[in-house]
Amino acid sequence: MNIVVLGAQWGDEGKGKIVDLLTPSFSIVARYQGGHNAGHTVYVGGRKFVLRLIPSGILHPGTTCVIGNGVVLDPQALFEEIAQLREVGVEVDGRLVISDRAHLILPYHRERDVFAETQRGERKIGTTSRGIGPAYEDKIGRRGIRVGDLGDPCPTVPVADRVREQVAARNRLLGGTPLAWEPVYEQLVTAWERLRPWVRDVSVFLAEARRAGRHALYEGAQGTMLDIDHGTYPYVTSSNGTAGGVCTGLGVGPGAIDGVIGVTKAYTTRVGDGPMPTELLEDTGERLRKAGNEFGAVTGRPRRCGWFDAVVVRHAARVNGLDVLALTKLDVLDGFEILRICTGYRLGDRTLTEFPAQLGIVATAEPIYEELPGWAMPVAGVRDYAALPVETRRYVERIETVTGVPAAILSTGSDRHDTIVREGSDIGAWLRRG
Ligand code: GDP
Repeated sequence: MNIVVLGAQWGDEGKGKIVDLLTPSFSIVARYQGGHNAGHTVYVGGRKFVLRLIPSGILHPGTTCVIGNGVVLDPQALFEEIAQLREVGVEVDGRLVISDRAHLILPYHRERDVFAETQRGERKIGTTSRGIGPAYEDKIGRRGIRVGDLGDPCPTVPVADRVREQVAARNRLLGGTPLAWEPVYEQLVTAWERLRPWVRDVSVFLAEARRAGRHALYEGAQGTMLDIDHGTYPYVTSSNGTAGGVCTGLGVGPGAIDGVIGVTKAYTTRVGDGPMPTELLEDTGERLRKAGNEFGAVTGRPRRCGWFDAVVVRHAARVNGLDVLALTKLDVLDGFEILRICTGYRLGDRTLTEFPAQLGIVATAEPIYEELPGWAMPVAGVRDYAALPVETRRYVERIETVTGVPAAILSTGSDRHDTIVREGSDIGAWLRRG
């Protein structure tokens, strides 16, 4: 059994917790896209871990963590993360596999990221300035340098030459004090010495693992609405966080995917710019932000908050082929008298039920809401479906109806144990197998 866990909204849905919960049932956790902008937060035994690049599965002894070719890798960020893990006694040696085909993020990518964002002025995308977008640009522009290229004994164009060319291009673009290429190259030579033991052909590794009966969990970063193809372009990330990214980002066929879990909050949030139909700009939005602690794990930026948008989650259900939802942060809605679910958008006299490609339409469309009663008794920490107030169950079941996807996992708190796995779902079998 190999499953995908990915975000069904604009990221930050709580994927880290769900992956962490499921990891004991899988011996491999693999990242297939993104870079060190992911920022999964996991609480284990009251301790907080923010993992940006290495899959959170690393916190479970015996799990192999894979960084696929679809990921862009900043070696310095990786080494910092490894050092932090070692500080708390988590060893990565023998448990980390990095694709030889993953592209590298180099210092000039970070500079270009900041430069591009400044150039955009008012129309900035809200990137994390970690060089991820420019590294993907170089990959698609066929200029990138891959991890495995560093150890290529007979390169067509030596890495030193390629770094020199890229740094020269950077100097032409940015002006100012020129960057010297030699230190950039030297840093790569040193990085290769450290990376070498972990580097492999990930497609081969995963195929061998499957033959050996090992189960893999494919972990998505960001969310469907931030996907380069299916998200709210151009306010998106530079990779495919949707289920299709698993195949291209790890080198596995579609048959290697047995199920897809879409993680979604019980309301909606988004970081950065771009339209968000159910955004609440008044007190209710502020209340959700405070109750949900909606501030970025990596950047600390406040997240925009709004009601649950079923149009968004239906879109995610279709483009990812979602089998089930993991509905997180139900406890954040504790104490709200009235809850709203957006079931469609009104555009003049038309009703839209599918998420449009044109952002102008998204920005002007009015959400169509259904109102449901909130619940008086807090659900924070509730671990049994039957113990939830009837209003909570109605809310969950309405979300299932309007999205067309069963909510097999419910989360009522940040701790791994504050979770309800619904009867009759396959998820229960996966967890028990672990
Ligand atoms: P990810 O990138 O999708 O893993 O999301 P983040 O880690 O950025 O944000 C999720 C945040 O919500 C983390 O701080 C989690 O600990 C927290 N969280 C996850 N599930 C729940 C939940 O059910 N209730 C509450 N209150 N917090 C949760």
